[in-house]
Amino acid sequence: MRIFTTYFLPLIAIYLADVSNWLWLTAFMWFVTISLGEAIAFHRYWSHRTFEFKHWIIRDLFTFFGAIGGVGGPIRWVSTHRLHHKDAETIGETHKWLITESAGKRVYRDTITPFNKILHKYYYEFLYLWLLILLLIDYNIFLYGGILPIAVHISLNLIFPNLDHVIGTKRYPNSVGRNSHIVNFFTFGEGWHNNHHNNPGKISNSEAWYEIDISGFIVKLVKSN
Ligand SMILES: [Zn+2]
Ligand SMILES: [Zn+2]
Repeated sequence: MRIFTTYFLPLIAIYLADVSNWLWLTAFMWFVTISLGEAIAFHRYWSHRTFEFKHWIIRDLFTFFGAIGGVGGPIRWVSTHRLHHKDAETIGETHKWLITESAGKRVYRDTITPFNKILHKYYYEFLYLWLLILLLIDYNIFLYGGILPIAVHISLNLIFPNLDHVIGTKRYPNSVGRNSHIVNFFTFGEGWHNNHHNNPGKISNSEAWYEIDISGFIVKLVKSN
């Protein structure tokens, strides 16, 4: 299902499309799903609880942005990610190729909300309803704002969780993960992964002026106090 959504749907949709100047919308949705959705809601909020949202509506809106990226809901994401931190600290950099069997299976109590439960139980129904709504509005919005962003988002998710343990530098030699401008460019602040593994409880991963973290900056706007 995921491979179909990621690669075949975009190809069919591009084949059927006759307008190609909507790529700005794909770029915008890339930012919305990766930064607001995955980096802020799924990662820094649901996985590490580095802050509290001003209001639950903003929390669920950002969670929605993560879910329309095509990588599932936060319950599964958090389960995989907490395992990632646990294994990275005990096994080391090679853990990525050792885990995934049990990844995503555990349901953490602190991730259970009515909206997260719907995303967990009916994820593909949710995703296809979202795409259907976009399709009914406009074909170009469906293609460039729905289908292509999913392709971009899932592709980045296949590449970067591995790459950010391979390319880049280490500020903290005793911690796993790498700091990389390349990874950071594509992930809006998630490229300072060595800083993150050294201290996962921080709102911003930036520890120097040249380490830009757009997601960390946005968190400061939406967090309470
Ligand atoms: Zn990592
Ligand atoms: Zn993390």
